[in-house]
Amino acid sequence: MDDIFEKIARHEVPADIIYEDEDTVAFLDIMPDVPGHTLVIPKKKSRNIFDIDMESWSKVAETARKIAPVVRDSVGATGMQIRMNNEPSAGQVVFHLHLHLIPFHEGQEKNFPEKLPSTKEERTQLAEKLRALLQH
Ligand code: AMP
Repeated sequence: MDDIFEKIARHEVPADIIYEDEDTVAFLDIMPDVPGHTLVIPKKKSRNIFDIDMESWSKVAETARKIAPVVRDSVGATGMQIRMNNEPSAGQVVFHLHLHLIPFHEGQEKNFPEKLPSTKEERTQLAEKLRALLQH
């Protein structure tokens, strides 16, 4: 059965996509820990780190490297955590491999960040800004 991220990759369900290439898609998390919280996925289905092939994994890493500074700067952050949950025991709830790019500001709690959720409108605006920045 198709997972929600496969549908996002195929543009079958709406998402705030900020970057896309032949192999990967990056979009804003619908329930962000902080504004700018972004997910990077491979278009080719894999469940998590335990089954992704090396080529797809490299493409995901390339995209994360490409967009990370832009995501950081777009929300005026100074740092970023990159997280990945693999299997339910580690907190995975969507079973299509994804990296979490989570911007961090000075003084922000590292391990249990307080949620600073954004509205749909804020995410739409931020996604527009990020798309424009990432086109250059
Ligand atoms: P996890 O599987 O625990 O690593 O996290 C899955 C993440 O996907 C959570 O942070 C959700 O907020 C996010 N998420 C779930 N559905 C969507 C969606 N339709 N669009 C964007 N993000 C989503």
